[in-house]
Amino acid sequence: MFGHPRFRYQRRYRMPGMGDMKPAQFDYVAPGSVPEAVAVLAGRGPESRVLAGGQSLLIELRYRTARPALVVDVNGIPGLAEIAVEDGSVHVGALVRHAQLERARFDDPLAGLFREVAPYVGHPPIRARGTFAGSLAWAHPASEWCALAMAMGAGIELEGPAGRRTVPADSWFRGRFATACLPEELVTGVRLPRPPAGAVPAFAELRRTHGSFALAAALVVLRLVDGRVDWVRVGLANAADVPLRAVEAERLMVGEPPEPELLAEAAARAAAEANPPDEPHAPAAYRRHALATLVRRCLTRAVRARHEHPGAA
Ligand SMILES: Cc1cc2nc3c(=O)[nH]c(=O)nc-3n(C[C@H](O)[C@H](O)[C@H](O)COP(=O)(O)OP(=O)(O)OC[C@H]3O[C@@H](n4cnc5c(N)ncnc54)[C@H](O)[C@@H]3O)c2cc1C
Repeated sequence: MFGHPRFRYQRRYRMPGMGDMKPAQFDYVAPGSVPEAVAVLAGRGPESRVLAGGQSLLIELRYRTARPALVVDVNGIPGLAEIAVEDGSVHVGALVRHAQLERARFDDPLAGLFREVAPYVGHPPIRARGTFAGSLAWAHPASEWCALAMAMGAGIELEGPAGRRTVPADSWFRGRFATACLPEELVTGVRLPRPPAGAVPAFAELRRTHGSFALAAALVVLRLVDGRVDWVRVGLANAADVPLRAVEAERLMVGEPPEPELLAEAAARAAAEANPPDEPHAPAAYRRHALATLVRRCLTRAVRARHEHPGAA
């Protein structure tokens, strides 16, 4: 029986627990502009879900953990797929895919940060479809982009029946898979302040297999001036129900020379700011230890890169 090719195929490719499940029936609409999408959401927001890259929503639909009556596909809306580098900030449109950020080549430390982080988001096919803004809307605690948005002080831009508003990242994440987005609102883009010139990014992640979600992850953007830490951001993923910015660790380093002891102390401080989930395969104490190691590794790499390439952005 086990040698039958069809049986083998089904055994290998069925997702655990999913069986033959298909999404429940839903209506589908593909608006051609933001005002059209907002008009649809204004009428049926609470019973609808926005479809961007579909890399999280389609799984939810198939598992029937989401059963929207209406799916609003925004992929046909023009003007949402651009990365705009402006004075003081970078604007990432709601349909910018992970892969676009992986290829970011503009002249700013943020581009280096995007390139460092993107390869850790799923696999190449997921990165070809999934969106940066969709990750922020989905708000998985292990999401690398959510940690980046939090650490860099991103503003999430929304449009809804009541008009436009921008929500700062530190008020955006409300818990696991919970955000400040109202059902009748559409995320139209994300604005990220540009770090100071000369800041260096570093990212490190612990995961069980290539392409799986992070058990813990850390990102650092750091600038040294005259041998002292002048500006630093530390972000943590899967360190709590929401992404974290380790402000105490940052405060400890500013104005100080980046000696190994200081970096180790800052890393320990960052881990202490975390409140990681306690799961059988990754207990909280293990995650906290991993976070300290990852932060220290990022800080050391960023400091070393600055010493080795003092002219690089
Ligand atoms: C095998 C696998 C591995 C993955 N690994 C990782 C990983 O390591 N790290 C990681 O961060 N992610 C990972 N993902 C998730 C992936 O990055 C998704 O692309 C991302 O989380 C959601 O983006 P999306 O564009 O696909 O959104 P969708 O799936 O289209 O939507 C997700 C949710 O956000 C809402 N939404 C999306 N866009 C908007 C908008 N503009 N306005 C309002 N609401 C919106 C949707 O309604 C839905 O609720 C993985 C996915 C898979 C399938």
